[in-house]
Amino acid sequence: MTDLIDRLKDKSLLRTDSYVNAAWIAGEDRFAVTNPADRSVLAEVADVGEAGARKAVDAADQAFQSWKKTSVYERARLIQKWNDLILEHADDLGTLITAEMGKPFGEAKGEVIYGAGFVAWSAEEAKRLHGETLQTPFPGSRGWTLRQPVGVVGCITPWNFPAAMITRKCAPALAAGCTMVVKPAPETPLTALALAELADRAGIPKGVFNVICGDAQKIGPVLTGSDVVRMIGFTGSTQVGKLLMKQAADTVKRVSLELGGNAPFIVMDDADIEKAAEGVIASKFRAAGQTCVSANRIIAQGAIADQLVEAIASRMGKLKVGSGFDKGVQIGPLIHEEAVARVDKLVQDAKKRGAKILTGGSPLVDELGGAFYAPTLIDGGNDYALELACFEIFGPVASVYRADDEAEILRLANDTPYGLAAYLYTSDVNRVHRMSEGLDFGMIGVNAPMVGSPATPFGGVKESGIGREGGKWGVEEFTEMKFVLLGGVD
Ligand code: ADP
Repeated sequence: MTDLIDRLKDKSLLRTDSYVNAAWIAGEDRFAVTNPADRSVLAEVADVGEAGARKAVDAADQAFQSWKKTSVYERARLIQKWNDLILEHADDLGTLITAEMGKPFGEAKGEVIYGAGFVAWSAEEAKRLHGETLQTPFPGSRGWTLRQPVGVVGCITPWNFPAAMITRKCAPALAAGCTMVVKPAPETPLTALALAELADRAGIPKGVFNVICGDAQKIGPVLTGSDVVRMIGFTGSTQVGKLLMKQAADTVKRVSLELGGNAPFIVMDDADIEKAAEGVIASKFRAAGQTCVSANRIIAQGAIADQLVEAIASRMGKLKVGSGFDKGVQIGPLIHEEAVARVDKLVQDAKKRGAKILTGGSPLVDELGGAFYAPTLIDGGNDYALELACFEIFGPVASVYRADDEAEILRLANDTPYGLAAYLYTSDVNRVHRMSEGLDFGMIGVNAPMVGSPATPFGGVKESGIGREGGKWGVEEFTEMKFVLLGGVD
C-alpha cells in the first residue's frame, strides 16, 4: 500500500490541500483519511473551513464572468482534455478509490471509466445546447428562448462513488458554462483532489473548478447561504438533502438532489430465474451494497420464490470478501465500522422478528481486520415491516420477500417514501408496460440490473430527489431558460 501511495505522490496525484483558484491552499486543521480495509491512515488532508469556502466561492464567481462567455467549442475542448487525462490515469484514480473507499480495484477502475463517460458526453453535449424560436400572439413580433448557465454551483458529493459523483455533476455544469465549488465527502477527498489536479493539467482556467475539503457543517452553510451560488447539486442521504433544500430556500437557489433509495427488485413467476439471480448479485453486491440504486427488497412472485433464493444462495457462496487490492475479491469493506454496526442492527432486527438468515449475518471485523461484513442472505417471508425492507441497507445484505399477484406486488414496491430505482424481471411484454408505468420510481431496469449511463437520465421521484443527471437533461439542469420577445418587426 505504501508503495502505491508513494507512486501517486511522485506523480503529484496525491494532493492533500484544497484546490482554489488554481492554487493549493491549506487551512488551520487537518483530518485523517483512512483505508477501510485495514484502518491505516493514508493522508492528512487540509480542512479549509469557512474561510476556504468563501475564497472558493469568490474565485468561482469571478471566473464565471469569463467562463460563461468562453465559446462552447473551447469549453468542450478543455472538458475533453480533462476526460483524456482521467482515462490516462484510470489506474491511479482507481487505486485512490480502492484505498480510501474500499471497493475492489476492478470496480474502482470501472467507476473511473464510467465517470469519464459523463465528461466525454458533456464535452459533446456542450455544442448542442440551444434555444428555440416560438410563436407569439403579437403581429410582427418574434420570440425565442436562450439557454444560459445558472451561475456558480456548489456541489456536495458522497463517498460511495468518489470519482463518478463528481464528474457526473461537474462535467455537465462546466459544459453549460457554470463554475463549480465542490465539497467531497471527508472519507474520500483524495480522488476528488486528484481530479482537480487533472483539471488543472487540462488547462481549465483558474477559478472555474474548485475542490474544497473540510467540515461539512462549516462549508455547507457558506455554499447554501451565498447569494452568488445559484445552485446546489447534491448526492447523499435524504436527511442531508432535505436540510440543504431548506437552507437553499432563503436565496431561492435551484437544487438538484440525488438522495436515498429503497429499490425493489421484482422477480415475476414468468422470469428467467437464473438471469434474475445474476441480476441480484450485480445490483446488490456492487460496492458491497453501498449504492443508492442497490436492490434493497427482492420481491419474488409466489411459486418461484424458493427457486430464486436457491439460485442467489449458490452464487453468493462464490463471492470472495477481502481487501479491494487482493486478486479475485468481489466484496470489499464497508466505509467504516459505524456502517458495519448500522447494517448489523438491521440484520439483528430481522433475526428478532423471525426472518431466516440463510448465509452470513454478522460482521467480519475481527476476522479480516477492517470494516467487513459477511455477504448475507435473508428470507424475510411476508414480513415487509422488517427494518431491512423499510430502510436503505447500504451493505452486502440481500433480503427476499414473497407476494402473489401483480397488483399486490406493485402496492408493496411503491410502499416507501423513496423512488429512485426499481428492477423488474419478467418475460411478459404486457407486464413490462403495466408495471414499469405503475412503479413510482425514476428509473426502472427491466431484465437489467444497472440503469446508469452517460446518455440516460439518472434521478429519482418522491424523497429520492429532484432533477436528472446524464444525457441532454444533465446539461440542461445547469441552465436557465430565458425568453426574449422582439416586438414590431414589419
Ligand atoms: P452519508 O451518511 O452516506 O455519509 P451524507 O448525506 O451524510 O451521507 O453525506 C453526503 C455528503 O454530504 C458528504 O460530502 C458530507 O460531508 C455532506 N454533508 C453531511 N452533512 C452535511 C451538512 N450538514 N451540510 C452540508 N453537507 C453535509
